[in-house]
Formats: sequence, structure tokens, C-alpha cells
Amino acid sequence: MSTTARHAAGIRVSELVAPDLVVTAPSGTGEETILRAPWDGAELARIPTTTPDDLERVLDRARTAAAGFRWTPAWRRSAILEGTSRLIEENAEQLARLIAAEGGKPLKDARVEARRGASTFRWAAEEAKRTAGDLVEMDADPGGEHRFGWTIREPRGVVAAISPFNFPLNLVAHKVAPALAGGNAVVLKPASNTPLTALRLAELLAEAGLPDGTLQVVVGPGRTIGAKLVTDERTDMVSFTGSPPVGRQIASDAGMKMVTLELGNNSATIVDEDANLDLAVQRVVAGGFANSGQICISVQRVVVHQAVYDAFMERLVPAVAALKVGDPLDETTDVASLINEGETERVKGWIEEAVDQGATLATGGVDADGRLRPTVLTDVTRDMKVCAREVFGPVLSILRARDLCEAIEISNDSEMGLQAGVFTNDLNKAMYAARRLEVGGVMINEVPTFRVDHMPYGGIKGSGIGREGVKYALREMTELKMVAFREMDWQTGGTPTDACLREPLGP
Ligand code: NAD
Repeated sequence: MSTTARHAAGIRVSELVAPDLVVTAPSGTGEETILRAPWDGAELARIPTTTPDDLERVLDRARTAAAGFRWTPAWRRSAILEGTSRLIEENAEQLARLIAAEGGKPLKDARVEARRGASTFRWAAEEAKRTAGDLVEMDADPGGEHRFGWTIREPRGVVAAISPFNFPLNLVAHKVAPALAGGNAVVLKPASNTPLTALRLAELLAEAGLPDGTLQVVVGPGRTIGAKLVTDERTDMVSFTGSPPVGRQIASDAGMKMVTLELGNNSATIVDEDANLDLAVQRVVAGGFANSGQICISVQRVVVHQAVYDAFMERLVPAVAALKVGDPLDETTDVASLINEGETERVKGWIEEAVDQGATLATGGVDADGRLRPTVLTDVTRDMKVCAREVFGPVLSILRARDLCEAIEISNDSEMGLQAGVFTNDLNKAMYAARRLEVGGVMINEVPTFRVDHMPYGGIKGSGIGREGVKYALREMTELKMVAFREMDWQTGGTPTDACLREPLGP
């Protein structure tokens, strides 16, 4: 008997993930698509897709939900988010298996993602209670006398959240949780390869008390379903995380609508001459190969000071060669497959091209079974695709720098600018690099892959617009409204006096 089947009450998920798991279906009456595991092609579930007619109903419903949810008090929004965080923790192992199965993410990385998903919702529960605005000193400017001013934050309305495959839980959380904290309704379109985790999360939110229709999940192709969410006037904001070409398309299609874009990077890590090399190697291996390099802040370019280049490489190459490639559902796997065959072929092609252009394969490449191994390339040049573009695969390129100045110049030689890392024990160099690196975040004695979920996170240049990180996303997802209150004399109704003493105010 097939391990999956359409279930009257929802989607039955393969026993590979969990026994008897049935997930509520999306708002879709369209054809079922078969969801397959990237690692071995096993059938995981059959997912009904959202048709254009379904989407019309979803958008109408979202507007109704938004009109109600905006008046839900902060304490209740906070309680729903806190409850969701608890439910994610209680279901963490199941969520991790879903992430590993549909996203191909090694289970140990998927468990970290599940824990972080709970943390993102807990931060949103906190931030839902901290949306107070500022007091404005109105009389600091002539003409502002006898006025009190303050700002309030109001929900934008309906947030269209469009998410990528590589963090099926936590990147969805980074959109849904702050949007709800701010009082918005959400229509979520997860990546077509990873809808199950998002659907399970929607169930947990409902269980935590989220009113019907406040979060709706739609499933279908980005170019139709996603594009409609961007242009339809029933959505008030687009929060997008994904690839740079799609991000650019969304920015041009969205018109006057608020848009935040979290896009790609070819993250640089500088290893300076006085760095702790053991720490640098350990972190570069973790940051370069977690989720098989499919993280927007994966270490991609490592820029090493010439004085420590050989010592760094002697440590790095064996550490990368020792990584275990295997089934993501195996507890001991470090690196699994990429999300699909097309991506694997693309990355293999880029490695081959780099080698043809003069790069040296220090370790990795393609093994006897045709599998892509964790790869380190040396003798690369900046214009090779493996350096200049986002690899989004298990490939490190090592560049040599004369000194810190050249290392910073190489790092900044990029169309993108999300995060960068610097390993140095010299405080002044660290400070200098922090100011000179053209990115949204600089990590000192850490790789660019580092992130905790409450820190501001986002890129400059081609890496995007706006910031995530719950408190910062909440600002993007709410409108700032100014209230100016003119004081009137409560006895005469004119310009205020000290009414009780019947004297003018002030000198
Ligand atoms: P993708 O751009 O192919 O897809 C992302 C989402 O956009 C999916 O849900 C997809 O269906 C949808 N989409 C596709 N075309 C669309 C269109 N025309 N209109 C509206 N929606 C559309 O990205 P992916 O392959 O899923 O993810 C990998 C990319 O995401 C990488 O480039 C990576 O760097 C980036 N990423 C960035 C961050 C960040 O925070 N900066 C985080 C994770 C991933």
C-alpha cells in the first residue's frame, strides 16, 4: 500500500516522517502534486494546490480577518504567539523530521531550526507587547506650542509572506510571527518544495487560538500564485525571502506596496594573521556546509591573510574531507543532497568551470557515485562564478590576501552585502573591519552564518531591502501614525490660559 494518500480531513504524510501524521490541507481545490524527498525521491505526501479561484476566496477572507484582528488586544496576540512557541517545542522532533524529509536538511540542523522556530515565536510574543510609539516634543519648533504629539503603530493589513525552501519553519516564522504580533492577517506562500512544515505550523497556530482566516497557507507556483499575491490590491505588504532575480521582479511588480526583500549573498569571511586558526577552521566548516551550503549566509568566500594561509589550509582540508555525506534523516549525516537534481547539476557545473579556468580542487568535487562532495577550491579568481555569484551549495572558495586592507577590498568586491565574518584577535582591526565592510551585519570572531532570531538581519546592495529579526520586522510590518493633540482652554475654548488663575500661560 502507498505510504501516502489523500485523506478526507487532510494530507497523510509518509511514515518516513512520523506514523499516522495527517496535516490540514491548504486552501486549495486544484490538482494534487506529489511531494518527494530530495535525498532519494521517496513520496512524502500529495498536496492539493491553490487555484486562481481559490486564491480569490483566500484574499477576500484575509481582508475580513485583517479587519477583525487589528483590534485584537496586544495581550491576546502575545498569548497566541507564546502558545505557538510552546507547541513548536512540544512538537519539535516531528517538525525537525518534516524539515529533514522535505527540505533535505540533515536532522541535526533541522533540530536546531525547530528550536529556533520556537524562539522566534517567543520573541514575537514579547514584542507584541512593546509596540508603543514615541512622544514628540511638539513645542520644540515655533508653531508647535500647546500641542502634544505621539506616534502609534498600526498593522498594515494583509501581509503576503513568500518564503524559500531552505528554512521551511524558521523563515516562515520570521514572517508570520512579527506580522501577527503587529496585528496583521497573513497569506503565506511557502516554497513549493517545502509546504508541509508551513501547513503543520499553521495547525499549531490554530491550536494556540489564532482566529480563523488570520493565517492562510496557499500552495502553488511562485510565478502564478506568488505573483498574484504581489500585485493584488487586497495585500498591503509583501515580505519576501528568496533568490535575487525573483526579488528584483517582486520589487518592480509591487508598485507602491511596502516590500521587504531578504535575498542572497556570496558571504565572505576574513581570517587575519592573528586569528585563532582552530576556531576559524571549526566555524568555517560549520558555516560553509550546514544544510549543504544552502543558507543565504553560508560561508562562501574565505579570504585568508598570506602569513597564515598554509597553516589555515592544513587544518581546513582534512576537516572538510571528514564530513559525512548521507541521508538527512540519519542522525550522523553532516551534508545531504541539494534540494533537487537541477541545483546539484548547476553546482557541479560551476565547480567544473572554475577548475577549467585554473582553480584547484583541494578536496571534494564529484565522487565515484556521482554525488557532490563538500568542496574546497583554491587558486580561484574573483570573477569565477563560485566567487562572484551565490553558490548555494557545499563549496568554499579560498582567496589569499596580502593584508587586512586587501582582505576587506576583496570582501567588498561583490554585488551583494548580507553579512560578513572576521577572525582577528586585534580589537582595532576588528573595529576597522566592522566599519569598512559593506554588509548588513559584521560578525567578529564568527562566520557570517551566525544569527540569533532577535537581532536585526538583512542586507544592503543586491542582498535586499529592509530588516528581519522580530522587533525590526515588526517595525516594517506596521505603519507609523502621528497623533497631534491641540490643547484648548477648557473654559473659553480658545488658546489655553492657566484657566484656574485666569492668567496667560508662561512669561
Ligand atoms: P526562490 O526565489 O526560487 O523562491 C522563493 C519563493 O518565491 C518561493 O515560495 C517561490 O515559489 C516564490 N516565487 C518564485 N517566483 C515568484 C514570483 N515571480 N513572484 C512571487 N513569488 C515567486 O528561492 P528558493 O530557491 O526557494 O530559495 C533560495 C534563495 O533564497 C537563495 O537565493 C537564498 O540566498 C535566498 N534566501 C535568502 C535569505 C535571507 O534571509 N536573505 C534566507 C534564505 C534564503
